[in-house]
Amino acid sequence: YPSDNIRNFSIIAHVDHGKSTLADRLLELTGTIRKGHGQPQYLDKLQVERERGITVKAQTATMFHRHKFLGSDTDFLLNLIDTPGHVDFSYEVSRSLAACQGALLVVDAAQGVQAQTVANFYLAFESNLAIIPVINKIDQPTADPDRVKAQLKSMFDLDPSDALFTSAKTGQGLEQVLPAVIERIPPPPGKSTSPLRMLLLDSYYDEYKGVICHVAVVDGALHKGDKISSAATGQSYEVSDVGILHPELVPTGILLTGQVGFMVNGMRSTKEARIGDTLHHTRTVIQPLPGFKPAKHMVFSGLYPADGSDFEALNHAIERLTCNDASVSVTKESSTALGLGFRCGFLGLLHMDVFHQRLEQEHGAHVISTVPTVPYIFEYSDGSKVEVQNPAALPSNPKNRLSACWEPTVIATIIIPSEYVGSVITLCAERRGEQLEYSFIDSQRAFMKYRMPLREIVVDFYNELKSITSGYASFDYEDSEYQSSDLVKLDILLNGQPVDAMATIVHKSKAPRVGRELVEKLKKFIDRQMFEIIIQAAIGSKVIARETLSAMRKNVLAKCYGGDITRKKKLLEKQKEGKKRMKRVGSVDIPQEAFHELLKVS
Ligand code: GDP
Ligand code: MG
Repeated sequence: YPSDNIRNFSIIAHVDHGKSTLADRLLELTGTIRKGHGQPQYLDKLQVERERGITVKAQTATMFHRHKFLGSDTDFLLNLIDTPGHVDFSYEVSRSLAACQGALLVVDAAQGVQAQTVANFYLAFESNLAIIPVINKIDQPTADPDRVKAQLKSMFDLDPSDALFTSAKTGQGLEQVLPAVIERIPPPPGKSTSPLRMLLLDSYYDEYKGVICHVAVVDGALHKGDKISSAATGQSYEVSDVGILHPELVPTGILLTGQVGFMVNGMRSTKEARIGDTLHHTRTVIQPLPGFKPAKHMVFSGLYPADGSDFEALNHAIERLTCNDASVSVTKESSTALGLGFRCGFLGLLHMDVFHQRLEQEHGAHVISTVPTVPYIFEYSDGSKVEVQNPAALPSNPKNRLSACWEPTVIATIIIPSEYVGSVITLCAERRGEQLEYSFIDSQRAFMKYRMPLREIVVDFYNELKSITSGYASFDYEDSEYQSSDLVKLDILLNGQPVDAMATIVHKSKAPRVGRELVEKLKKFIDRQMFEIIIQAAIGSKVIARETLSAMRKNVLAKCYGGDITRKKKLLEKQKEGKKRMKRVGSVDIPQEAFHELLKVS
């Protein structure tokens, strides 16, 4: 396939507008997968993706399609790159787009333009991609394609006559999609006569084959047996396998200019496979391709083995999982309350949840996670600055006084039906938001932009936004700069002992309310024990909230009328087990739910 007969495109959309279903249909249409293979969203391979109905990892598939082009039947090779729609994974979206020349912008015909439609449009637009608007789900009774067409014109200046109308469910209109891809998206621009340059798009670890890289060959060609080097590390490798994703790995021995495919080259860990790196033939000198901006960790949380003993098992599970998800940062840490564990950085809360779920489902780990925090910057009076990824690392009574603090902010995009404008403005003000823009998409929908502290949106913001707008709000954000802020460290004390794993950093104005809510939550979630527990929230040495959990009077043996000795033994053992758990977290047994509930206090 000469590159003139290749098209690389992506499907971008707001979550649930039908990207993955449309991808399925295109794979069926081209015979790449069998029709009715029984598994919808074929490219969503991970269990979490299937369970949550979301796409986490972008996946690539190569399809073959014959089309009458410039008067004669021509065979085309089409690379489709499915992308995740959720805001946490916009990093994956921009990565996918770097290998494309065009994108299908899918919009739900009933819901119209939503927050991630806007975000994704701009990502594609800024990458100079040809954009084909696809108005999907036209089979729905509430579909209003004309209104969506008008929105696309007013928001993005997209020509209404360019829009395709489809139903990925009934198949209506699907026959126009691939012809539009072939005719409107330019072929990849690389030169087959230039030395090899390829972009490393993604990598994952396979039990049998080792590290598998997804690459886009920008210039030249890649052959099995080639010696290649990384522009980033200078490290050299020999290519042992190369081929296309069809969508399973199909070895072809060669990838030509403009193709996207896989490569196996003996890397030992995905850490060697730097996403965005340029690879080239070892003996040629090349100009590296522009890479991607590195993934930015927005939330950090501590992960600890749930039953105290299997730190090594958790270590192993995390190592294996980060082989497939290099976007998580991991460092070892220790907590007086929880023992040895890890501090992990995530792209967002959903990413964090997905990581936990994968640790448990795919690697059988049981973890306790601490309250997530965003990265703050603190400056001491001696001028030294630290980035704080763990509130416990900040001394409660510092000798060296803090002189300033900064917190990360985001630019949030919110789209809502106009009747909810008032309540959304109130919510954003409560969350310390600053309005940057307020306009209307059409007569029924408002568009707002806010600068907000990241901390205020990672904690349950989206749920609250959804609930005050009856589910109609759509929301997206991109990270922005740090702003100076009045922050304090809030300690939680159980019987006078600070629990390091429960410390949080909050805005001073919110400390009294957050402190109160935290101690109330803890009182609810900690079981009564054999002794009284005093739960306190404090800033430095000043206690700002307090609750008392009274002791439980229980004689476990009283129930067994003396006779049944094995039953007695069992009960005693059970009690001992309970004690063991208590020992692990100081003197008080704290269930994981307590940590989980703390997360929801903002
Ligand atoms: P994604 O999040 O954009 O990948 O969306 P999915 O492809 O997972 O689709 C979200 C939901 O919309 C699924 O339940 C699909 O079955 C449904 N869906 C997708 N396309 C259509 C369509 O054309 N018509 C209708 N009625 N439902 C659709
Ligand atoms: Mg999907």
